[in-house]
Amino acid sequence: MDYAEISPWFSKAERYMGVASTVQNRPSNPDGEYLPPMPFRCFDYILQKACEKIGVPYLPDRCAQLTVEHNHHPACHYCGNCSRGCDVGSFFSPTWFTIPDAEATKRLTLLTNALVRSVLVDESGAAKGVAYVDRATRREVEVYASVVVIAASCVETAHIMLNSKSRQWPTGIANSSGQLGRNLCDHLYGTPGYGYLPQLAGQPPRPDNIADSTVSWMPRWQNLKNPREEKFIRGYSVYMGGGCGEFPGHYRQIEGFGKQYKREIQRYYPATVGGLIQAPTLPSPTNYVDIDPEKKDIFGIPQLRFHFQWGENELLMWEHSKQVMIDLFKAAGGELWGADSVPNRPGTSLHETGVCRFGNDPKRFVTNKWAQTHDVPNLYICDASIFPNCADKTTTMPIIAFTMRTCDHMLENLRQGLHKRA
Ligand SMILES: Cc1cc2nc3c(=O)[nH]c(=O)nc-3n(C[C@H](O)[C@H](O)[C@H](O)COP(=O)(O)OP(=O)(O)OC[C@H]3O[C@@H](n4cnc5c(N)ncnc54)[C@H](O)[C@@H]3O)c2cc1C
Ligand code: SF4
Repeated sequence: MDYAEISPWFSKAERYMGVASTVQNRPSNPDGEYLPPMPFRCFDYILQKACEKIGVPYLPDRCAQLTVEHNHHPACHYCGNCSRGCDVGSFFSPTWFTIPDAEATKRLTLLTNALVRSVLVDESGAAKGVAYVDRATRREVEVYASVVVIAASCVETAHIMLNSKSRQWPTGIANSSGQLGRNLCDHLYGTPGYGYLPQLAGQPPRPDNIADSTVSWMPRWQNLKNPREEKFIRGYSVYMGGGCGEFPGHYRQIEGFGKQYKREIQRYYPATVGGLIQAPTLPSPTNYVDIDPEKKDIFGIPQLRFHFQWGENELLMWEHSKQVMIDLFKAAGGELWGADSVPNRPGTSLHETGVCRFGNDPKRFVTNKWAQTHDVPNLYICDASIFPNCADKTTTMPIIAFTMRTCDHMLENLRQGLHKRA
């Protein structure tokens, strides 16, 4: 699919959520409409200069965190609590955005503790609702609908669909292609280098580290002019973190105890920096999920099994990023303390894609380009499972843009009477 086809929904999503960044003209990361960027931290300025020397871009990241008031949500006050949930709604989340907006329509019934077991089908194999377990009472409940949308977060969507076995769909609903659960992709994460910048050691600490927000990034710069300039295909991004965070993670790099130890921790506190690589995997027939024939959860629902290994391409990116860190620290006048010996284990990034991938051919793909399953036209999927693979950027913005597009298409199908109204 061409980016132009989806870009109006990216703009719609950005206008709704509010994304802080800058226009960057990067060939692999299209620009959008942004709020003012998050301010750089001290070390960002030093690393940006160093990146210029080694020919690597170093730019403000794209953060769904409000640097100014937006859509009746207040600007961030930089308390640093984002990953535990923002108290004022300055960080995009369904709790502050989509759920209140849906409630305001007065047409939303929100069921909590409802663990969906499977999609129910009628005689023709069309979706007619879902069966769920009420986790509080353990009661089995069925709810009916003219259209079913699954958005349970990638692998859980495949889990529900693989568990939706019936006479019409013996291997799982909408799985005539046999592709349900296949082609699992992920982002390889790891720290290819960490150390400190002597220029900043001993400086007074400043609260410049805004919780989990990745203020800056080194967007993919490899294989852009020539897709074969590196040993690997495609490319990866790097995010630099450090500075005065909540906890001095460098305590392991410093030896000693008592007062002297504390003084050293304090001295290095504003000066430590480290990279995080985000490298996309390629689809592989050996990376997939399926239903465990024996294991069930406490509600008797068959569990999912994972079959996954890092591939050669992303491991080459990993090695490449370690050399980049060596060059970067040298150019910045920094001291490199080390790097992870191996990347993080699969699943760490929480950016899985691919297990219900979209495409035109019903024999090879689970859904069409509207995220409507080929086999069951009144069954839609709204999460990252439809993406054929991941890019060097995170998944949430594409999920929201594609979901908005799928909803528009679904509403049009309802208007045209292609789905029966309940
Ligand atoms: C700590 C953390 C940091 C992250 N940081 C970033 C980031 O900086 N940028 C980024 O782009 N992404 C980030 N991600 C990833 C991002 O959160 C996910 O990509 C995104 O939330 C996926 O959206 P989703 O709607 O598909 O799934 P979710 O947001 O997980 O929503 C799925 C919903 O379905 C429900 N559900 C699941 N199974 C069932 C079932 N059987 N029955 C009923 N309900 C069910 C779940 O309870 C949940 O409410 C981060 C994730 C984590 C955990
Ligand atoms: S730092 Fe995070 S938690 Fe605090 S106001 Fe800003 S967005 Fe919300």
